[in-house]
Amino acid sequence: MARATKKPNVQDILRLDAIAKNLKIKSRFEDSTFTADVKAACLARVAPVVKKLLPCTGEEIALGLGESLCLTFEEVHGPHDVVKLEDHYLKGKKEIGFAQLRDELENPGVDALLFQRMHAKAGDPDTWVAVLNLQESGSKAYWNRFHELSHRIAEPPQKILPLRRHQFEATNPVEALMDSVAAEMAFYEPVFRPLVADFARTNRLSFEVIDQIRLQYAPTASLLSTMKAIVRYWPRAAASLTAEFRGRLNSPGGDMALRVSSQGHNDYANLKGLKFFPNMRAPIGSPIHQAFVSGEQQNAVENLGNWETSSGKSLAAITVFTSACLINGRVYAVLSM
Ligand SMILES: [Zn+2]
Repeated sequence: MARATKKPNVQDILRLDAIAKNLKIKSRFEDSTFTADVKAACLARVAPVVKKLLPCTGEEIALGLGESLCLTFEEVHGPHDVVKLEDHYLKGKKEIGFAQLRDELENPGVDALLFQRMHAKAGDPDTWVAVLNLQESGSKAYWNRFHELSHRIAEPPQKILPLRRHQFEATNPVEALMDSVAAEMAFYEPVFRPLVADFARTNRLSFEVIDQIRLQYAPTASLLSTMKAIVRYWPRAAASLTAEFRGRLNSPGGDMALRVSSQGHNDYANLKGLKFFPNMRAPIGSPIHQAFVSGEQQNAVENLGNWETSSGKSLAAITVFTSACLINGRVYAVLSM
């Protein structure tokens, strides 16, 4: 579900205007085409770099784009990595910005730090250093690389600041914009769509298939982001959702049941009526319910006509193939035709 972004403040507006100028696009942030224009301009810059890498995976695209932008990725999994980076950049290269590394990474909300090296020479591959904070979890490693690349492609160099920190802030208009650019690059359509089509030729959409595609294209990507991208490019009707045990929207403690949140669907799903009401219950017979109760992955055919809301509305009576698995108390499911 897309989260509403906050109204941009003065600083955001300056950054959004700088992005438009840097990418040479005519629309302004308040125009309805702004996000699409920014995405298109960024992809136009990415295309010739990826063309040289073909055939390639998503991980290779991240590295290749980093190289072309003089950006090196560093990963911090624990305190030993902080020591290593301090030795290399602070002591070795006298980059004073790295003196802040330790304090910055103490904050678990910090996803990544982007350093612009003060003593870099033209063309140094580590002119920019993106430090990914993977101490809590590695699940965002892949996504965060593309998020940092989006900043580098879209925004002019920061010049004065030796570092910029990135916290998960989906409601900030600049960060939300960078995430939508990141989504386009992380699962780059000209490479990813044919790969998905290849799997779709001989397979139904299941979590086995999602994992095979993930391992082939981007092993460091999270299941959720890979699932969403595959659904988008699946060549037949497909939708994804998550389900949790919770109450009604208007009374969170009342009428507890296994309830769903849509995570996206493709254009074919729109045409076939493969969609859900917000927070509706997954019926007991659904593989989604069975995955929740058994804790085991379920793959089965079901009829969505059995899905009803408490006010008596039901979904289109279409037969779908549902694949569902339980991870940390939450069911992930993909439904396709
Ligand atoms: Zn950011």
